[in-house]
Amino acid sequence: MKINVIAVFPQILDSLNYGVTGTAIEKNILEIQRIDLKDYPLNSYGSIDDKPFAGSEGMIISPIPISKAISLVKNKGKVIYLSPQGKTLNQKKVKELATLNDLTIICGRYEGIDQRIIDEYVDEEISIGDYVLSGGEIAATVLIDSIVRNLPGALGNEKSLTNDSFSDGRLKGHSYTRPRDFEGREVPDELVSGNHEIMKEWKIANSLWVTKQKRPDLFSNLQLSEKEMILLQKYELAQKNLRKGDGWKYSWKVWKRAIKRT
Ligand code: SAM
Repeated sequence: MKINVIAVFPQILDSLNYGVTGTAIEKNILEIQRIDLKDYPLNSYGSIDDKPFAGSEGMIISPIPISKAISLVKNKGKVIYLSPQGKTLNQKKVKELATLNDLTIICGRYEGIDQRIIDEYVDEEISIGDYVLSGGEIAATVLIDSIVRNLPGALGNEKSLTNDSFSDGRLKGHSYTRPRDFEGREVPDELVSGNHEIMKEWKIANSLWVTKQKRPDLFSNLQLSEKEMILLQKYELAQKNLRKGDGWKYSWKVWKRAIKRT
């Protein structure tokens, strides 16, 4: 996939050279072309912005450098403007964008960009959340990183993708690694039981419970199977029986007893 990024500070995208995205670049799964708006100044002082009409605060990036930058891109693909006014990014949109061969991202700065660029070139405005950043470059790294995880061959273990939160509308749930006992807190017995059925059921129940607790909005959209409902009920029963100070360990015991009862 090729992603063109038009920005005032394209150096901020350097963080994409590390980790999963860095490896994807090395493996030619991802190519990023950065276009620096400062290379297309309006005058000999190097300005790329101008005062807004009607005397509002701040400065607006002029349409002239942006349109020059866009004209340099050979295969633009879909053109996205990152903006707090856009539709909020989610995993569904990320997956959709990951199917494209080419993408062009425009990053704003200051008070934003001239509306006529949006009207003329932009296919979609995307926000990464209901808050305001100083510039679109960090939002671009967020968007690109989330897309790259979904490109074939980008992840060492593609199974992580199907287990990721949001992949099936729910959160992943709790994760543990060694040591088995960390300062008195033990890894749930079920996860070290060696019984694949119990491990699988615990993970499903835990994921549903975590989703219900942390994201009731997501939970209310889930269509649970009968088995999933039973697993969740059992997990909730275990949680209800938790006594203050008993910690998680007690809940695993209750969970085990609950499983045996059914
Ligand atoms: N004055 C603008 C407004 O209130 O809508 C905000 C401009 S912001 C300071 C500068 C740039 O940061 C924007 O043009 C946009 O590219 C980027 N940006 C800020 N918040 C963002 C968000 N939540 N999602 C995506 N991009 C964002």
